[in-house]
Parts: sequence; C-alpha cells; structure tokens
Amino acid sequence: MIEVDVEYIVESLVRLLNTPSPSGSTERAIDLVAKEFEKLGVCCEKTRKGGLLGTIEGKDRSGCRALSGHVDTLGAMVKEIKSNGRLRFAQVGGYTMHSVEGEYCTVESSSGALYTGTILSTKSSVHVYRDLDKFKRSLENMEIRLDERASSAKEVESLGICVGDFIHFDPRVQVTPGGFVKSRHLDDKAGVAIILGVAKFFAGREPPARTTHLYISNYEEVGHGASFGIPGDTEELVAVDMGAIGEGQSTDEFTVSICAKDSSGPYDLTLRKHLSNLAKESGIGYKVDIYPYYGSDASAALRAGANLRACVVGPGVDASHSYERTHRDALANTCALMVAYLKSQ
Ligand SMILES: [Zn+2]
Repeated sequence: MIEVDVEYIVESLVRLLNTPSPSGSTERAIDLVAKEFEKLGVCCEKTRKGGLLGTIEGKDRSGCRALSGHVDTLGAMVKEIKSNGRLRFAQVGGYTMHSVEGEYCTVESSSGALYTGTILSTKSSVHVYRDLDKFKRSLENMEIRLDERASSAKEVESLGICVGDFIHFDPRVQVTPGGFVKSRHLDDKAGVAIILGVAKFFAGREPPARTTHLYISNYEEVGHGASFGIPGDTEELVAVDMGAIGEGQSTDEFTVSICAKDSSGPYDLTLRKHLSNLAKESGIGYKVDIYPYYGSDASAALRAGANLRACVVGPGVDASHSYERTHRDALANTCALMVAYLKSQ
C-alpha cells in the first residue's frame, strides 16, 4: 500500500479536534489548516464565505480534480437567558439531545470570554424528580448550567453572555494505544486531516496527474458547505467525509468507505468504479456502502449547479453525531486511496 504519514494525520486531527469550530464560527480552524497548507507549500486563499481553497499544480493543468472536507462541526448557540440563570440553547447542526445530555461545554461571549458549563435536562436530580427516565429529552427540556455564581438573568448578562453567543461541546479527544481515535467532531475533522495527509504526501514529490484543488468548507453541517467554492475548472470532486456505520451497513472503522448513494441520490458511477478499482489494485482496505440519512459537500455542490462528477469517500466513523470513533487504519486507507486517485490518469 502507498506509504502515507499516519502519525502526521493523527497529530493534525488531534489539533483540529481541540480547535472549536461549530458552523458559523470556524475562523480558528480554517487558520490552522491555512498554516499547515503554507508549511506544506500549498498555495491557498480564503473565500469571502470563510472557507479555504488550496491548489496543488499537476502535471496536467486541465481537467482539474478537487478534494473537499468540512472543518465545521455541530454545536449550539445561546437562545435565551432564563430567569434562573440557566441558558436555553439553539442547535447548530443535527443531533439528538441524548447525545449531548451531560456534556461539558464552553460558552464564548462576543468579546471572546470563555465560560464553562454542562448541558443538562431541566429535571436532572434523581433525588428531587420522579420518573426521570420518562422525562422527554427535547430541546425545550434542556438547558445549560454555567459554572458561575449567577442565578438570575441579570447576573448572567453581567458576565457579558448574550443571545447569539456560540457554544462549543467538549471534544473529548482520545487516541488509544490500539489506534482508535475517539472524539465528537471526527465528522469531518478526520476528512480535513486526511486532506492534510494528502498535501503532505505530495510535498516535495512528483506532482499529481492533474491540478488538484483542496477545498475546506465551513458550513456543511447546515447544508450549504461546498455550494460555493469548488473552482469552475473542476471536472471531478471527491468529498472526503465520514463513512456511516450501523446495522446493515458494510462500512467499518478500519477501511475507507466509498459511498454509492446517500439521501441526495447516487454519486457518479464512473468515478466510483475508478476509486474501487484503485483500492483493489493498490491493496487498500475498502467497502462500498449506501448511507441512508446523509448528505455531503459533493451533494451541496451538485445542488448548487456544479457541472462535475462527484463521489464521497471517508473513514468509517461509529456513532456519528454522538460519541464518534474511528481507527488510524481507516485514516491511512482513506489517505492512501486519495493519493492513488490523484496519481492516476
Ligand atoms: Zn460530515
């Protein structure tokens, strides 16, 4: 198999995971990727929308290809400061309340001050409330308890916390000795780290077969990530995003998952076959799968009218939009497939 620098991918992934970037507040994560691109000699520029476009010149400058990954993640926003000093929140991106109940979080005020807290249901203490297992975990029944001596709306406001402030979830990053990577937000920081791995591979080596754009989008979780930003000369787009694992799915945490179809419909068959054949020829562990409830930056670009062939590939991620987990083997397999693809004619 093609030798990719997995250590670099994991290390970049950990740095990205520890850089908060809910959709709408992604500047720091984009800056981190821009710095890495520059170190690796990839020319890049930010879009007005706040995304990042890097380009590696290929042997052939026509018929360009693009890889995309999204740096934005799930998160929340202060919706209301309650009279008891707790915060109601609005969701940024799609997730269940079960997956965030009990999670530590940080509220970032508009001046940049950070306040820690915990996401709880409005009835949390078993010593006070009965039948808590039946209490519905709906958005209205959830709140944030700040770690501040503030038990009125006024006291919270005096901290500088306002409606509209972003809330970051604790990313809980762990890399286990056996090679698992656990965190919220592997979707899609794993994909972005893999794209950095691809850039690292080509740094100082023979260039890819065709000029390749590396697009880092910043609004995917809310549906319009790569609806802008893929250059018009792009003929093929591969979104590097998580593979969905669950009952009946063929995707696992160790291989690269190639998506045949998701909620947006089938992806390009010729491109999909090309990627599966490359994986087979290069000894890269892969699975072809269908993701039942899923959209990607490739579908966002197509919906916006992009005239290109598109596909999605990525490391299998267990328990997506919850406590996610993947394995370094899936990161390595995905990166190796993208390198094989960019080297291919
Ligand atoms: Zn994603």
